[in-house]
Amino acid sequence: MQDNKRVIEASDLIPAVRAAGENTRFLGELREILTDADDAVGTYGPICRECGKCCDFAKKDHRLFVSTGELALLTIITPPCAPSPLHCPYQLALTCTARQFRPLGCRIYYCKRAANALFNDIYERFHRRILSAHPRCGVPYYYTELTSGLVDLGPDMGFKR
Ligand code: SF4
Ligand code: SF4
Repeated sequence: MQDNKRVIEASDLIPAVRAAGENTRFLGELREILTDADDAVGTYGPICRECGKCCDFAKKDHRLFVSTGELALLTIITPPCAPSPLHCPYQLALTCTARQFRPLGCRIYYCKRAANALFNDIYERFHRRILSAHPRCGVPYYYTELTSGLVDLGPDMGFKR
């Protein structure tokens, strides 16, 4: 998941996410890719009890990386909590409040080890499509850890603080 990762400054990330969020063609393509990813995962019938534990990155010692476009899509809606390192502000009482807009990694991750080996390949396949949609639609591509990206965007995206 960390291929193509670039170290990024908030001063670069903020205008890139804003440009992605204003590009309706790009957002449409991105949503199509994410729907295809849902379908690809769905064919394997993975079981999720929706306990929300995998969204607690600090406890799970787990990191989720996202592209510019995934941040733009996710931040279409305002989260219920303020962003902070390793805490996703979209989780409320163990429930994701941004299900329709959540990034690829949230759709692909399952806590069963066997499923994850399989889903890593699906992640790579759909991440490549997301990656190539960026230059094709004129959107700068960055790849950053989800919660640090949201913290960087916080003041600009009007998050509650
Ligand atoms: S993937 Fe596993 S840890 Fe994550 S919500 Fe589902 S059951 Fe819980
Ligand atoms: S966007 Fe939703 S699924 Fe993804 S980490 Fe946040 S609460 Fe969990």
